[in-house]
Amino acid sequence: MKLQWKVAIVTGAASGIGAHAARLFAGEGATVVCVDRDHHGANAVVNEITAAGGRGLALTVDVSAEDQMREMVERTVEEFGRLDVLFNNAGVMLADDGDAETTTEDVWDQTLAINVKGVWLGCKYGIPAMRDAGGGSIINTASFVALMGAATPQLAYTASKGAVLSMTRELAVLHAREGIRVNALCPGPLRTKLLMDFLDTDEKKQRRLVHVPMGRFGEAEEMAKAALFLATDDSSYMTGATFTVDGGITSAYVTPE
Ligand code: NAD
Repeated sequence: MKLQWKVAIVTGAASGIGAHAARLFAGEGATVVCVDRDHHGANAVVNEITAAGGRGLALTVDVSAEDQMREMVERTVEEFGRLDVLFNNAGVMLADDGDAETTTEDVWDQTLAINVKGVWLGCKYGIPAMRDAGGGSIINTASFVALMGAATPQLAYTASKGAVLSMTRELAVLHAREGIRVNALCPGPLRTKLLMDFLDTDEKKQRRLVHVPMGRFGEAEEMAKAALFLATDDSSYMTGATFTVDGGITSAYVTPE
């Protein structure tokens, strides 16, 4: 098992990528702290983990709240003694995120608070705990939209994911000699609640799919497998990387008919 004796925190663990990653990490032997503001969903994932013979703990946390993020790491170390893997994955794409003219200040602030500040706060409290554990792996979920522009506007979201990428690189450089690796996972468009709620008509879904060489949305499970690779020693020489798992969308100029 690839994460035997390891302790992992997964944020956004109630749904989508986070839920799949939590189950997968636990299946590889990790104790998984499942963090989400959706208490019911995080609990359900922990119940699945324990029913399968694994070990987990659900914590109700808003990743944009500093005191709650500090407590998240303190509680993890108190209960399980260490922190080895931190998957900063919670994120939002708000329905009324638009272009420069239509995006409201509230949408901008909420998006940046969860998607950027949440990742920073995870690192702020997670890094000292990892240092005490002798090193570890941090995975920050960015997005392919940080790498390309789209005519379907979601400006606050796009800006937030660009910030996650640049923050990841700097943290990777700062902490490399401490054995703490920091990588960004860049998913392509996925068939999860987050994107399906945003692309809420068949026409909008088709407009996005037409750009994906593989011709389909990705699955949360496929991202969880990539996160597992980044979490384990299988990726021991990787840090500061932009790990793109996107059905080819960022390589496409023209897609097959
Ligand atoms: P999802 O909506 O299924 O899951 C996101 C989870 O984050 C939810 O359980 C939600 O409750 C939680 N969350 C949101 N705000 C929170 C907060 N303030 N505090 C704690 N938890 C919070 O979405 P997903 O597709 O699994 O998204 C996971 C990550 O992947 C996000 O960062 C998202 O931006 C990114 N991503 C998704 C896609 C896609 O197409 N779905 C593409 C690229 C990147």
